[in-house]
Amino acid sequence: MSDTVTILPFDIPAAGHAVAVAPGVLWVRMPLPFALDHINLWLLDDGDGWTMVDTGVLGDATKTHWQRILDTHLRGAKLKRLVCTHSHPDHMGLAGWVAETLGAELWTTEGEWAQGRRYSLEAIDTERYRAYYQAAGCTEADMDGAFGNSSSGGMRHFARVPDNYHRLYDGDTIQMAGHDWIVMTAFGHSVEHACLFSESLNVMIGGDQFLPKITPALTIGTENPDASPLRQFLDSNRRFLDLPQGLHVLPSHNLPFEGLQARIGQYESHHAKRLDTTLAACESPASCMEVARKLFTRPLDGRSMFFAVGETLSHLRYLQDDGLVGAQPDPRGVVMFSRA
Ligand SMILES: [Zn+2]
Repeated sequence: MSDTVTILPFDIPAAGHAVAVAPGVLWVRMPLPFALDHINLWLLDDGDGWTMVDTGVLGDATKTHWQRILDTHLRGAKLKRLVCTHSHPDHMGLAGWVAETLGAELWTTEGEWAQGRRYSLEAIDTERYRAYYQAAGCTEADMDGAFGNSSSGGMRHFARVPDNYHRLYDGDTIQMAGHDWIVMTAFGHSVEHACLFSESLNVMIGGDQFLPKITPALTIGTENPDASPLRQFLDSNRRFLDLPQGLHVLPSHNLPFEGLQARIGQYESHHAKRLDTTLAACESPASCMEVARKLFTRPLDGRSMFFAVGETLSHLRYLQDDGLVGAQPDPRGVVMFSRA
């Protein structure tokens, strides 16, 4: 039954080691230099070679762990393919190195490839971010914190993403570990996130879309200010409700779990509560930062400031799209949100 979320009883692999979680599917864990201190990655035995799913961030520690794992577990076979669920630095940051040094070909969706290329090649436009934070009602001190240590540092965690790749489309079937896996794209957390579902193995690689303990970040940034990531997230999750009960979900963070349908229900109630808090915060006109302080009660430093502003904007956007909240810039250029 999938009316609860149940963590599956696998041993957690130590850094540099791998644990089997399904026939031909190995779980690998890499350290991350963030508050979220690890990422789960997957290695699939394709018989004539191996597929890696997601890479970890750019860094000597990740490379050393990968070398050790590949030397230990590949039994001399070649790493022939890298599938990336999405373009965030912990998932695609090392794709350039994996392609160049290990000779694997990159497979991902077009949206994620393009985004990853951009992340790995372009410096952040700090002027644009300054205007974004100003409109959100951040003080100069808030902004100094955000620029000192924020997503603007993303490029540090990327090797150059390859200039060619195999494009994954929603609904494609690919073979990994001797089984069919259907590509299911999902939205909200990233531009065209790929989940991979194998009916015969009863397994889904869920990336960051389906996590057992935390909710994925759903942020509006500077590059696509009209986006509606929260609505996209909730909408695109619904078709995953039709997947088999008892499906084993392999998430990018925390632990493998069962109970996808229950988890999707928990996401919905979590965001419904956050939307209520957001709407209540707009009873009298409030800036994004003022609303964010109601949603996020912990102190906001650089990186968490970036997520708090982006998440709050996406909750406000949801309410704006439903006609419940209106937005008006004040004389300072700070956008003030109020109940419609
Ligand atoms: Zn992500």
